[in-house]
Amino acid sequence: MTEDSAPALALEGVIKVYDEGGGKVTALGGVTLAIAAGDMVALMGPSGCGKSTLLHVAGLIDTPDAGRVLIAGTDVSRLGDDARTLLRRRAIGFVSQFFNLLPTLTVRENVALPLVLAGQSAVAARDAAVRVLDTMGLRYAGDRYPHQLSGGQMQRVAIARAIVHQPALLLADEPTGSLDSATGQGILEIFTRLNADHGQTIVLATHAPEAAGLCRRVVRMRDGSVVADEAR
Ligand code: ADP
Repeated sequence: MTEDSAPALALEGVIKVYDEGGGKVTALGGVTLAIAAGDMVALMGPSGCGKSTLLHVAGLIDTPDAGRVLIAGTDVSRLGDDARTLLRRRAIGFVSQFFNLLPTLTVRENVALPLVLAGQSAVAARDAAVRVLDTMGLRYAGDRYPHQLSGGQMQRVAIARAIVHQPALLLADEPTGSLDSATGQGILEIFTRLNADHGQTIVLATHAPEAAGLCRRVVRMRDGSVVADEAR
């Protein structure tokens, strides 16, 4: 399969088992799932069903115990640690519930950081950070520190940081989970806009019922398995 026709993300028989308190927990029990480039998918299901684990495995943050993960047709199961890190920095953006901004860096420095880590010059990284903050309506906040922001602003900064390197695949783990519903709705609309304007492939793990309405596909999980998969 060529890169162009490959799904943005494919999981084939992915198994992930954790040791927990002397026992084993099957977080993913053999998940097979393909997500087309440009799609926007809600991943839903009760707490503990495996949504975060799936995103961590898809985002090259964690490795499966068995099965294959393919990013744009590249089998990442066969890559070494360095190649995985490079691919993650190039192709994937990750947004979490708790923003995970670095408290000692300004907003602009937080957003520029992925580019600096990827080897871009400080000036180029700063310019790119200013541009993406602008698109989030946050240019004015570039010199502030995270603790000077509201939750909704912090999440917009976190999204800016996740997309500053223009990743093809954007993964978000409960991105509205720490926000009130009006603020959360605004965050969901940002994802919708990124998908519509830039064709970014987006997978959102969420409990928010509104998210399902905004996504083109809803994948439901239970006990480490996909139990429903609805195109809308
Ligand atoms: P969800 O995101 O749907 O809430 P998770 O993927 O976080 O689900 O968790 C799936 C299962 O795996 C749960 O039973 C959870 O307790 C377990 N689990 C997740 N991460 C770990 C870990 N690092 N160590 C041990 N167990 C874990």
